[in-house]
Amino acid sequence: MSKLIFVKEQGLPEQRCAILPQNVKSYIRLGAKIAVESGIGASIFIEDQEYVDAGATVFSGEKSEMQLAFSDADAILSVAMLDETKLPLLNPDVTTISFFDPFKHNKRVNEYISHKVSSVSMEMIPRSSRCQKMDALSSQASLAGYVMALQAMSALNKSLPMMMTPAGTLKPAKVFVIGAGVAGLQAIATFKRMGANVIAYDTRPEVSQQVESLGAKFLNIDLGETGSTEQGYAKALTSEQLAKQQSAQATCIADSDIVVTTAQLFGRTPPVLIKNDVLSQMKPGSVVVDMAAQDGGNVEASVANQTIMYGGIKIIGTGDWASQVGRDASQMYANNLQALIEDIWSEEDKCLKVDEQDEVLAQALITHKGQLINPIIKSQYSAKEDLPKQTLHEQSKEHA
Ligand code: NAD
Repeated sequence: MSKLIFVKEQGLPEQRCAILPQNVKSYIRLGAKIAVESGIGASIFIEDQEYVDAGATVFSGEKSEMQLAFSDADAILSVAMLDETKLPLLNPDVTTISFFDPFKHNKRVNEYISHKVSSVSMEMIPRSSRCQKMDALSSQASLAGYVMALQAMSALNKSLPMMMTPAGTLKPAKVFVIGAGVAGLQAIATFKRMGANVIAYDTRPEVSQQVESLGAKFLNIDLGETGSTEQGYAKALTSEQLAKQQSAQATCIADSDIVVTTAQLFGRTPPVLIKNDVLSQMKPGSVVVDMAAQDGGNVEASVANQTIMYGGIKIIGTGDWASQVGRDASQMYANNLQALIEDIWSEEDKCLKVDEQDEVLAQALITHKGQLINPIIKSQYSAKEDLPKQTLHEQSKEHA
């Protein structure tokens, strides 16, 4: 029987948690033992007792209790990567499952290798039909799109829908959404429900139909060949294409009351799409929300984790969007985790089976048995000549 541990999130303002009481019941039906850290659901008003009633045991955050709970754990699950203080408590061969952003966290990858910890990155779950139930990037991005639209609306000093009243006619707000992936499409849908006029742009032309099916207009910019990766992600534009995009969308930006940018490039720094000269052309009182602010930004002037004024323009770069609707975000994330565990659960042995040959784990497992095994992360690190030492050692053995 496998023991799964769920820890409380550390970083503020995180409002999400990785398990709800209903998931405890499902895991127990599967044959797992569940332990949760005390206070895990406190940010969304779920008490420890509800987890206990569902069949979990609860351990406190005291070092000795935590140590005991971790001592026979098969997997440790959370929303964000485990904080530093928990590293010495990890058993060799335990599996951590969380968002992890292994592109950025080279040091942590090295630590997992030297501790012989297996790590699953929820960002690396394949974006295939089979994996839709486990796709936490999509579930959280969708809520992020909704929250960004809400934040933009409440920051704007005008209403969104057209209103014809005896006191005069109010024109609908104009919104421009750049990047129409999961988050962008949800933002568009939310703005449309509120009656705004919405225009959107994405470098993947196939997205135009999805934008139009939501009642928004697609801004056509001919950038030539843009292309997508095998997983359906956008490829980086050339510098000429980027300059062309920046100039072609400038009028639309200047004319908008709200601009939301959601353009991402998987595993790479997001492109800067709105430079300060274009921002300066927006009407005072307009609002810009930059989803990418924490990773460098789609908007030149945005600041990570902050809302700032750039002249008369409010730029929101606060991040942690899905966490703002923590109850729903936790439910969706916890269900994504449960779907993953069910997928890799061995019915026969009634335990978790962490097999690097498994179709999902072949892509989502980063470190395993003291090695960096993920091909994408491996190639990324070798390109940066930053490959963890043991793997370099393994490579030199392979080449010997
Ligand atoms: P993402 O977060 O990586 O990027 C967001 C959007 O930014 C994308 O639509 C991308 O095309 C766009 N973008 C990148 N550079 C841009 C630029 N210069 N200007 C404007 N837009 C730019 O993407 P995502 O939302 O996670 O989704 C990526 C892809 O994965 C999509 O094709 C989506 O349909 C697909 N997907 C598939 C599944 C599935 O099959 N289960 C699930 C989720 C997503």
